[in-house]
Amino acid sequence: MTPSYRITLLPGDGIGPEIMAVAVEVLKAVGRQMNLAFEFEDALIGGAALEATGSPLPAETLNICRASDAVLLAAIGGYQWDTLPRHLRPETGLLGLRAGLGLFANLRPATILPQLVEASSLKREVVEGVDIMVVRELTGGIYFGTPRGIFQTETGHQRGVNTMAYTDEEIDRIGRVAFETARKRRGQLCSVDKANVLEVSQLWRDRITALASEYPDVSLSHLYVDNAAMQLIRWPKQFDTIVTGNLFGDILSDAAAMLTGSIGMLPSASLGSTGPGLYEPVHGSAPDIAGEDKANPLAQVLSAAMMLRYGLNQPTAADRIEQAVNKVLDQGYRTGDIMANNMIPVGCQGMGEALLRALDETNS
Ligand code: NAD
Repeated sequence: MTPSYRITLLPGDGIGPEIMAVAVEVLKAVGRQMNLAFEFEDALIGGAALEATGSPLPAETLNICRASDAVLLAAIGGYQWDTLPRHLRPETGLLGLRAGLGLFANLRPATILPQLVEASSLKREVVEGVDIMVVRELTGGIYFGTPRGIFQTETGHQRGVNTMAYTDEEIDRIGRVAFETARKRRGQLCSVDKANVLEVSQLWRDRITALASEYPDVSLSHLYVDNAAMQLIRWPKQFDTIVTGNLFGDILSDAAAMLTGSIGMLPSASLGSTGPGLYEPVHGSAPDIAGEDKANPLAQVLSAAMMLRYGLNQPTAADRIEQAVNKVLDQGYRTGDIMANNMIPVGCQGMGEALLRALDETNS
């Protein structure tokens, strides 16, 4: 029987619709090759949703997303909505979507593509071959812990307070996502904490260590966050999968991303315990180049590959897309953001056509 998947498409704003169109054609092509049936449904989010319905996240969008197997998002936002009250801002729609789908795990790969090694600010020998996945806890930790606020002290001073807290359940569920992710990669998991100073990190380390017995095929190590930051810059190739809390993950995933040097190439996935995951590029809606056929669609296409691998359990289809991306880069096709000497300039559509040709050639 042909496996069939319902996929919600959220093109959003700015370059979103342009890069989404490329990803959809790529998915259709892979679907034909691999005998997978995709049922796509478009829904509104961000500024586009606000203009059409008065809300950056209409209830209908959340319902459509919840009823699907996976959600593919492009990007939201634009200058024209930047001064609106917070509840109407496009970003509020995205935060509402993540909360509404219960997405507590954020997966951000930092993979150096050999063709783009020169884009990194680090030396070739340090970054060549880097392939890291950062698994960040997304809905707990210091960004959500209470008490929080700025309080008056008895001596008339102000005191700012945030609380870093994790329950055993929260640690276990992100830990499981991380072990499962490492298992699909090279089987090495590094847990990052600050257990020498923070009680919350001691609990984190205890729980992650206890989980390891359920995953004998994954080798677990631990690093303090300050050392992890140093090691990421010193010798990033030592890492396969990293798991960490919200604050540490926020910082380390950006540091890892910049090893690659090209934000227009980076996909991400956000997962919950049940229900569909959300797959989206790390970059924003790039309003400065929207509608000009200049956007790089590869982060969107690689997000679709992550959706196949982590959301729909179709790793071979994901491999095909990633191989096609490699091939078009080998062939020298470049959008403006990753342009280099002697390469072939293409726009968003041109890159899409090159990808389809590459997929065809791989199949024949
Ligand atoms: P941005 O990522 O949209 O753009 C930063 C720079 O990178 C711009 O020069 C842009 O042209 C370029 N760029 C980004 N993606 C590109 C691509 N695929 N191809 C070629 N060039 C690309 O970040 P920003 O300018 O800070 O934000 C613009 C809007 O996007 C804002 O409204 C912001 O709130 C929103 N935003 C949305 C998301 C999201 O949807 N997840 C993330 C970040 C920013």
